[in-house]
Amino acid sequence: MAEIRKRFVCSNRCGDEFFTTAHVVEEWKVDGLGNWIETTQALETSQKPNDENIWTCAKCNEEAFLFEDSYYEGAFEYGGYYFRGYKVLLKTLTREIIGIMNRVRSDIILGFSKYEWGKRGYTYEGFYAASGKSDYDVFECIETGKVYLPGENELFEYIETQEERRATVQ
Ligand SMILES: [Zn+2]
Repeated sequence: MAEIRKRFVCSNRCGDEFFTTAHVVEEWKVDGLGNWIETTQALETSQKPNDENIWTCAKCNEEAFLFEDSYYEGAFEYGGYYFRGYKVLLKTLTREIIGIMNRVRSDIILGFSKYEWGKRGYTYEGFYAASGKSDYDVFECIETGKVYLPGENELFEYIETQEERRATVQ
């Protein structure tokens, strides 16, 4: 099983960029009293951002919260994100017939795709391999809180109706 990492997530699920503080050791140009004149270089990071810091979303400024291990139960890792089997569609019918393809859209923010706009590598086979050959057709992403349908060339966002969402999320 993949190693579970703690991760900050924006409550609005904007994306994966945050502001927080790190401690950096700098070299300064100073006067004879030690007063700062100029920062000449950053020498090293003495302390990376940690869990006790406040992390704010780089997009909406909302304070981010830390995902705990229990959020990841039963999840598998793919490309730095965690997914969990969510729903089985009617496997015996082709996707076109039941109109599933009308209910998907590209998620260019997450960007698992083979296309030019893709931000993260993606293959259908790789995704299912990571899932341990899951029987599910639709997966929820722990970090984004959205559900996804693995397509041939990209990981589609799957659009649920209000009723479906209510029925599945308890
Ligand atoms: Zn945000």
